Amino acid sequence: MYRLLLVIALLVVLYFLLRRAFQGFKNGYMDGRGTSVDQDQMVEDPVCHTFVPRRAAMIEKVGGQTYYFCSKQCAAAFRNRQAG
Ligand SMILES: [Zn+2]
Repeated sequence: MYRLLLVIALLVVLYFLLRRAFQGFKNGYMDGRGTSVDQDQMVEDPVCHTFVPRRAAMIEKVGGQTYYFCSKQCAAAFRNRQAG
């Protein structure tokens, strides 16, 4: 009986360790090179071709690609264009 509890405890610890490792990997992957993402970099809106700083842009992920928009309206227009 004690052995069973020990196994369960081990599994729980293992689960949390794996989850933390996975989240760390995911965050590292999302940020690219960690905190060095340039928020002031100008990105082009593919709908109206306005350049906006990354920090102010609307970010949309469509089909695994990341797009930056000047406004929600442009993001919605882009999504509609992709859908239709
Ligand atoms: Zn726009």
